[in-house]
Amino acid sequence: MEKDHERAAWVQGLIKGFICDSPENTLKDSSDERAFDEPIVGFSNGADPLYEEFKDHVGPFCWTPSEIFSKTFPGTKVEPRDLTVISWILPQTGATKGDNRAQSLYPAERWARARIFGEEVNVKLRRFLVEALSAKGHETVAPLLSPEWEVRRSERFVFSSTWSERHAAHASGLGTFGLCDGLITPKGKAMRAGSAVSRIKIPPTERPYRDHHAYCLFFTKGICGKCIKRCPVGAITEKGHDKVKCLGHLKPVTEDFVKSNYGFDGYGCGLCQTGVPCESKIPTKEDV
Ligand code: SF4
Ligand code: SF4
Repeated sequence: MEKDHERAAWVQGLIKGFICDSPENTLKDSSDERAFDEPIVGFSNGADPLYEEFKDHVGPFCWTPSEIFSKTFPGTKVEPRDLTVISWILPQTGATKGDNRAQSLYPAERWARARIFGEEVNVKLRRFLVEALSAKGHETVAPLLSPEWEVRRSERFVFSSTWSERHAAHASGLGTFGLCDGLITPKGKAMRAGSAVSRIKIPPTERPYRDHHAYCLFFTKGICGKCIKRCPVGAITEKGHDKVKCLGHLKPVTEDFVKSNYGFDGYGCGLCQTGVPCESKIPTKEDV
């Protein structure tokens, strides 16, 4: 019988193989440059109490793993502990980060491509993983591909959604939140995240933190705040991230810019994710 660690290695291999070896990992530019570097993968159990805590913290509309699993597979009886959340981080490439670091108002072309075509890669990875696991008898759903996934109003966060990739990554040991709301991972904050919920037994990844802000220097040491200065519209302050201001810059401002300067329908910013100490690593005070 397959052992837990063999299943974990198999799933990690599927995700890493898709990103590292597949032609699907592309920015869709003239040279089909790759969109993302090698991913990191984490796991959390479906019965992890953090998923219930997200309901209190973000909103009661947040799905637990078993809620989205049961919506998708109403005929399959499972206990929450029988489910595993598989989470992955797709790090932006050095070229994309370097280009965006040099920007002060609009996104670099590579960044805008990673936002649109890179997310298409992420969608394909979700589908690929669902198919590969299902083919081996593990019913699997990628919550963001569910027709029931939606953005909701949140009293505390203005708007949020029924499933957050960053929260799943946090529960799966992959990172903690920064002042700007981004998730700081061992590969930094300049990344995109994805996840799937599967009826498969895999041991959870250790969470090397207790506090959800443990990797952000502003919360732990009262220093840094570099993301505040990077934001061109003042959407980040010592009080946190103003989503309404941020969204107002993304659309229509960067949307218009991307269309007229890069020639495709897109948008993006990510200035607070680049040119900051947490861009590519868990920062230390020496990085400030
Ligand atoms: S730039 Fe500094 S303050 Fe902002 S999220 Fe990163 S570590 Fe925290
Ligand atoms: S994404 Fe851009 S507009 Fe939004 S908070 Fe970050 S720097 Fe500011």
